[in-house]
Amino acid sequence: MDTVNRDILLKKFRSLYAREPAVVSYAPGRVEILGNHTDYNEGFVLSAAINFGTCFAVAKRNDGVVRLTAGDLMKTVEFPVSDPAPTKLDGWSNYVKGVIAGLGARAPLGGFDAMFYGNVPLGSGLSSSAALEMSAGLAIAALFGLEVPPVEMAKIGQRAEREYAGCNCGLLDQASSLFGKRGCLVRSDFRSLTFDTVELGNDVCFLLCKTHAKHALVDGAYNERREACERAARYFAGVLPHPVTALRDVTWAEFLAHKDGLDDVTARRAAHPIGEDERVLAAADLLRNHDLEGFGGLMFESHSSSRYNFENSCPELDTIVDAAKSSSGILGARLSGGGFGGSVVALVRPADVKAASAAIGDAYASKYGTRCDTRVIECSDGAHLF
Ligand code: ADP
Ligand code: MG
Repeated sequence: MDTVNRDILLKKFRSLYAREPAVVSYAPGRVEILGNHTDYNEGFVLSAAINFGTCFAVAKRNDGVVRLTAGDLMKTVEFPVSDPAPTKLDGWSNYVKGVIAGLGARAPLGGFDAMFYGNVPLGSGLSSSAALEMSAGLAIAALFGLEVPPVEMAKIGQRAEREYAGCNCGLLDQASSLFGKRGCLVRSDFRSLTFDTVELGNDVCFLLCKTHAKHALVDGAYNERREACERAARYFAGVLPHPVTALRDVTWAEFLAHKDGLDDVTARRAAHPIGEDERVLAAADLLRNHDLEGFGGLMFESHSSSRYNFENSCPELDTIVDAAKSSSGILGARLSGGGFGGSVVALVRPADVKAASAAIGDAYASKYGTRCDTRVIECSDGAHLF
């Protein structure tokens, strides 16, 4: 619970709008822990809500107007609640407009004053956008007395990303922000769209190590990977005795038995989400037995699969994971998110954070001249009202 940022927000809200908010909410960002590129293959992901989030405050108005302020910029946009059209200018407002449109389709909304403020780094892969959407969704729904089931709320955020912000994302970010629980990982099933939590405990935390790698052609590479997965799923549908509509339906044993009928690249692409699904399912058993070393081992395996099978790693990410492997305090490490740059997430005991961070920073600096940014991530509670 982020009361520091909530109190800053309350102060700013009062001073700008000269009134008290009626509802204040909070929603965290998220980090992907295991299960890479499994969402569009209808598989499984383990993620966590993080200890960085966004607070959102609202109070009704009776003139049908929305005044929306980004609390860090202290910039305000105004629009009729009945027409939250996306704009090029003030792109940050589109995430909230998309949520207003989604909620407005369920029940008519009145006007309101709104302001948000938070500490999720923007555009860093920790999903500040989902934190903004889910904090807005909870606050606005509560203000107008709307009951919105969490999966519906997550879908409203996803639609805001797709139709208002132009980002074709899955449901992982919003679901993690809503379903997160302190000391737990969120397990998502992207076929049934069901979400539950798996206990990780508070004896470990994560170190997020952000590379400075920016790679061109990411979109093309992403499409190539998706097409290869679809091609492989069609092949397995033809050779397996049971229905296959996505790689989710193929076990690792079936993959090994039939992979020789695929060309080498397609086989390696398919190996990744199939292996990741098995690792996510295995992880839950390991965590039930408090086997953190075993769980860390799955994270290292996940990274090897990204590196050699899916080829969505890059030298900067590999440098960090290699350093993590040779550092005794780090239990596991892998790239987190789409890949081709971005961040590595490492599993560390709190007592080892300093040494782990130094080891990774040194290894990165010796190769790339500057240290990578590292940040401690704790698995935290999901979105809530204050
Ligand atoms: P990520 O979700 O990984 O942080 P995105 O590009 O999806 O990256 O979303 C970042 C965008 O979300 C920002 O550029 C901004 O428009 C908007 N945003 C999210 N949180 C805030 C905030 N607290 N203040 C202003 N804009 C925000
Ligand atoms: Mg985002």
